[in-house]
Amino acid sequence: VRAALVIALAAVLASPTPPQAAPRVHADGPGLVDYDVDARAPWSPDEYDGVELTTDAPDLNDLPAVHAVYMVPADLPDRFLEFAAMFQSDARQASDRLRTLYGRAIRFDERSGEDSKRHLDITVVRAALPNSVWLGTPFQAEAVHNELRRAGLDDPDKKYAVWLDAVSWACGTGELYQDARRSPDNLNERSGVAVVYRNYARSIGGSSGDPDGGGFCRGRVLLHELTHTFGAVLEQAPHYLRPLPPSPFGAHCNDSAEDVMCYPHPGLPDTGGPAFDYGNDDYWDPAANPALDSSATLGWWTVNLSRFVCPVSGCEHPNPDPGY
Ligand SMILES: [Zn+2]
Repeated sequence: VRAALVIALAAVLASPTPPQAAPRVHADGPGLVDYDVDARAPWSPDEYDGVELTTDAPDLNDLPAVHAVYMVPADLPDRFLEFAAMFQSDARQASDRLRTLYGRAIRFDERSGEDSKRHLDITVVRAALPNSVWLGTPFQAEAVHNELRRAGLDDPDKKYAVWLDAVSWACGTGELYQDARRSPDNLNERSGVAVVYRNYARSIGGSSGDPDGGGFCRGRVLLHELTHTFGAVLEQAPHYLRPLPPSPFGAHCNDSAEDVMCYPHPGLPDTGGPAFDYGNDDYWDPAANPALDSSATLGWWTVNLSRFVCPVSGCEHPNPDPGY
């Protein structure tokens, strides 16, 4: 069932902008929760301060960051305050995955909360399109991108992580440029959009949507989609997953079912605990893994170079020496 779903759900599309090099959008089917990497982060409503903002709050610094968005179709009820704490927990889980493995983190856009704690800065966007337009169309990711622009969320120094409160055949989508250049000019250093959906596929056997979490896909999904936007997986990677019909695009790995960027299809080895580039040979340099005494780099663009990933010294600082 799992393999059939992955294939059936791997629809893709191309975003129309920027014209000279359009990112490709990767749609991801449901994973299953029998891998550690798919564990759902615990959360409780009182971890969020109850603030609902419709604009990007003043930034705490001017560094590149991932900005969170909750988007609701024109004709559906706004469930933001019901699930805001869960979005925040899922964002922290994604960042903590890099911290645990590599001493790095994702720089999420945060704000000072009403309770004087730091909170994920989440902008609530009421979409112009109704739910029926989103359902099951291959244009879902493109529509989200356009709605962000309409809402004025188009900062070139931000990636956008969107929880779309609409059903989908996919668990998520992420925009990726197949650009291997190890330089600040790499197109994956531009803005980009990652989307997490409610998993319509539950009704046909999928199980990644969390019934206690509004139906949103969780576990590895957010980090997976963001990592597409950071520039993975590139065709140069030795464990690059070749495109599976009818999907014309791969952009995943095929060496570990516990790897955030691999599709856990049958036959893929469960390599142990959660991994983010198992073996450090596809999209994260060995030199950026403190557990390895290595200065080796892979020779193509890797996610550890991303300006949206915090350096070892912390998220308050830019990465002065990414290791190009
Ligand atoms: Zn993917």
